[in-house]
Amino acid sequence: MSISTDFSVAIAGAGLSGLCLAQYLMRAGIDVHVYERDPGPFVRRQGHRIILDRYGLEALRESLPRPLYRLALTTGDEPGGHLRFTDSRLRDAFTINFKDEPHATRQVDRLTLRSILQSGLDGRIHYGKTAVAVDSGDPARPRLRFSDGGAAAATVVVGADGVGSALRAQLMPDADPANTPMAGIYGRSPLRRNGESIIPDALRTSGVLAIADRPGRAFFFTSMRFGERPREAFARLAPGSYAPTGDDYVMWALLLRQEEVPLDVRGELRALWKLAARMSANFHPLIRRLVDTAELDTTVLNLFATGRRPRQWAVPRATMMGDAVHAMPPFGAHGGNTALRDAALLGHRLVEARANGTPVEEAIAGYQNEMVPYAFRAVDTAARLMRRLTGGAAAPHWMLTRVLPRLHRVTVPEA
Ligand SMILES: Cc1cc2nc3c(=O)[nH]c(=O)nc-3n(C[C@H](O)[C@H](O)[C@H](O)COP(=O)(O)OP(=O)(O)OC[C@H]3O[C@@H](n4cnc5c(N)ncnc54)[C@H](O)[C@@H]3O)c2cc1C
Repeated sequence: MSISTDFSVAIAGAGLSGLCLAQYLMRAGIDVHVYERDPGPFVRRQGHRIILDRYGLEALRESLPRPLYRLALTTGDEPGGHLRFTDSRLRDAFTINFKDEPHATRQVDRLTLRSILQSGLDGRIHYGKTAVAVDSGDPARPRLRFSDGGAAAATVVVGADGVGSALRAQLMPDADPANTPMAGIYGRSPLRRNGESIIPDALRTSGVLAIADRPGRAFFFTSMRFGERPREAFARLAPGSYAPTGDDYVMWALLLRQEEVPLDVRGELRALWKLAARMSANFHPLIRRLVDTAELDTTVLNLFATGRRPRQWAVPRATMMGDAVHAMPPFGAHGGNTALRDAALLGHRLVEARANGTPVEEAIAGYQNEMVPYAFRAVDTAARLMRRLTGGAAAPHWMLTRVLPRLHRVTVPEA
C-alpha cells in the first residue's frame, strides 16, 4: 500500500484506541504515527481480558485487515456465556445471558489484542515518547510535543493517552474526570491447578459478580480460555508478530471503597494482594482460592473515575478519544468498546474528509458531536450500575444479597 504524506495524523498513546485508529488510517493509506510513553511494546503485564461487545467488534472489523480480525476472533474465548450476580456465597440473585452467535460478545486477552493491533505498524509506533502538549502556533499544522523536547507536526493530532491524559487539560479544559468512592484491586490466577480447572463446570462460561453482605464491597471473576493458542494462530495469520503465551487464566477483581486502600500500599503489589486477600476472607472458598493462587506481578489497583462531558474543544485540528475523554467505572464493560468505537468513527471521518475535500475541522467536529452522546450514555450507565451494585442504598442491596439468592439453588457448594 502506498502512503501519501499530504495528510498525516499524530496519535499520543498506543493503547486500544490509538492503535485501532492507526490501523484504520494505515488501511486507507494515510501517514500515521503513534507516540507511546512506555519504553517498549510489552513492558507491562496487562494481565486481564476484556469483553468485546458488538461496538468493539464492529470497530475492529472496520479497522483491521481481515487476517488480523480473524486472529482476534480465533484467539478469543467462545462467544456467549453469562454474567451472574450472586451473594458472597455464590448463591444466584440473577443472570444475564449473552447470545452465542459467531460475532456476538466475547472475551479476548488484552495482551493478545494489543499485539494484534500492533501488527503491521512497524516503524510507526515510537516508544519512550511522553506527550506533554499540543502547539498550535501554525493552526494548519499542530505539533505534538514530547517531554524529551522533541515534537511531531501533523495535519491532525489525536490524544489517546488514557485516563490520566496529559493532553486533556489543554484540549478539553473543562472536562477533568470526577473521582468516585470505589476502586478495584485486579489480579489473575492460572485456570488450572494440577491439570484440574479451578472453576467448577457450572461457572465455565460465566462471569460472576459476588456482592458482599456489607455495601461497597464485591468480587468479580471470569475465566479466559483461548479459543486457539496464540502461537499457532499468529504463525498462520500474522507471522512475525509477537504471540503471547496463551495460558488460560481467571481474571478477578476485588471491588472496595477507595478509603479502604491506604496510600502507602497503592504502588506495592504484595501489599495490594494482601489487602485483597484480607478483604475477601468472608467470601465463598472458591473466591479465597482464586486470591490465594494469584500471580503476584499481575496485581493492579484501579481507582474508578467518571469522565465529564467536554463543553469546549480548545485546540484546532486536535481531538481526543477513549478513556482520555470518557473514563468510566468498569461496570457494564463499556470502556474499551467505546474507545474502539471512537477510533473507527474518527478514522472514518478523517478518511472521508481527505477523499472528498471536507475541511479537517468539520470532520473532527462531526466526530466529536457524534461521540460525546454515545460515550457519555455509557459513562452514565456505568456510574448508575456501580451505584446500584455497590452503593449504600439499603433496598437494592437487601434485594440482591438477602432476597433473590434465597429463591435460587446453590450453584457452587462450599466443599
Ligand atoms: C482490569 C480491567 C478490565 C477491563 N475490562 C474491560 C472490558 O471487559 N470491556 C471494556 O470495554 N473495557 C474494559 N476495561 C477498560 C478498557 O481497558 C479501557 O477503557 C481502554 O483500555 C481504554 O482505551 P484507551 O485507548 O482510551 O486507553 P488505554 O488503552 O489505557 O491506552 C492509553 C495509552 O496511552 C499511553 N500514555 C499515557 N500517557 C501518555 C503520554 N503522556 N504520552 C504518550 N502515551 C501515553 C499509555 O501508556 C497507554 O498505552 C478494563 C479495564 C481494566 C483496568
